[in-house]
Amino acid sequence: MSIIGETVTTKSAHLIELEKKWGAQNYKPLDVVLTRGEGVWVEDVEGNRYLDCLSAYSAVSQGHCHPRILAAMQAQAGRITLTSRAFYNDQLGPFVQELCEFGGYEKALPMNSGAEAVETAIKAARKWAYTVKGVPDDQAEIIVCAGNFHGRTTTIVGFSSEEQYRSGFGPFTPGFKLIPYGDMEALAAAITPNTAAFLVEPIQGEGGVVTPPPGFLTEAAELCRRQNVLFIADEIQTGLGRTGARFACDHEDVRPDIIILGKALSGGFYPVSAILADAEIMDVFLPGDHGSTFGGNPLGAVIAREALAVLRDEDLIGNAARMGEYFIDRLSDMASPHVHEVRGKGLLIGVDLLPEAGAARDYCERLRQLGILAKDTHKTVIRFAPPLVITRPDIDWAMERIAYVLA
Ligand SMILES: *Cc1c(COP(=O)(O)O)cnc(C)c1O
Repeated sequence: MSIIGETVTTKSAHLIELEKKWGAQNYKPLDVVLTRGEGVWVEDVEGNRYLDCLSAYSAVSQGHCHPRILAAMQAQAGRITLTSRAFYNDQLGPFVQELCEFGGYEKALPMNSGAEAVETAIKAARKWAYTVKGVPDDQAEIIVCAGNFHGRTTTIVGFSSEEQYRSGFGPFTPGFKLIPYGDMEALAAAITPNTAAFLVEPIQGEGGVVTPPPGFLTEAAELCRRQNVLFIADEIQTGLGRTGARFACDHEDVRPDIIILGKALSGGFYPVSAILADAEIMDVFLPGDHGSTFGGNPLGAVIAREALAVLRDEDLIGNAARMGEYFIDRLSDMASPHVHEVRGKGLLIGVDLLPEAGAARDYCERLRQLGILAKDTHKTVIRFAPPLVITRPDIDWAMERIAYVLA
């Protein structure tokens, strides 16, 4: 095992300096400057290769620069890219049809970023509450979970339990109630006649790869149905095969009333997000109620169609299940003195370090020096979420290095 870049070289240092001088400092990246990618591998400006175990927070599930998605994008980019929804385009119809058939819903509403899709779901739930359920004007409540991550708009950070996400950005949108994640009693107690929806991640990715108690999603969905409350699953990170199932909710045979998708929906090429729901809910949106200049554009539609086709044709959901099990087994067998717990599902894996083990970021720095890019989350958790195209030899290669760093 060779050690990469113990000292940052001139080329990287210069580019890092440019970002620091001219860019807002709202991130603190690892000191690696990437210039190309292929499948599970990425390369920095010095020519060092790394196994990408972050996949851009699960957006690059199909692998970097997937040739089929690339070809589809290039062909469409030379035809037409943006029409706005003032006109029809010949790609949006086929895209929403294929997405609905994939997800098993009657209607789709395309947006761009994940946060916009979450905002769309919130608007759908509120308008449904007023026009279908009969909640008095401006009284709708949405229940969310502590430890949530749903994006960075002011409304969304307003119902975060993470102090740093909120601090300095108020005042916030009212109408949200926080309960502990995975707590059925708290959910039951929080529901009132004005509750429009329960918004939940089936696994909290940014929250530290936290899974709820088995049966929670089933029970929560059942309770919501009985109480006429919409069950909304944010599957932006967990959906589209990441956990070894089509959606993470599939593991418990739960069908959310609204499902929110993003990230891997475009295979990492372009921001494409969407919500899926049946007509009874989606039809609350009337012309002019909601929109986005880029949402549903033909370039994004083509990319997303191909990204879904790759998921199907390469059995990436099955591969995520098989390789995820192997990855988690190998990690669990490691018996490192620094590890509290290995958890996750499919290829969404968290290694939770013991408090005395030091910061997860330091481990990520050392992994980087050995050619593995991973990202800490919540100070004590190293997240492993490689592209779903990863193979057994790739994992074996990684394990040698992970074992070394965790030893
Ligand atoms: C990444 C993420 C979002 C936000 O997506 P953006 O594209 O960054 O706006 C929302 N919810 C979950 C669960 C996510 O992982």
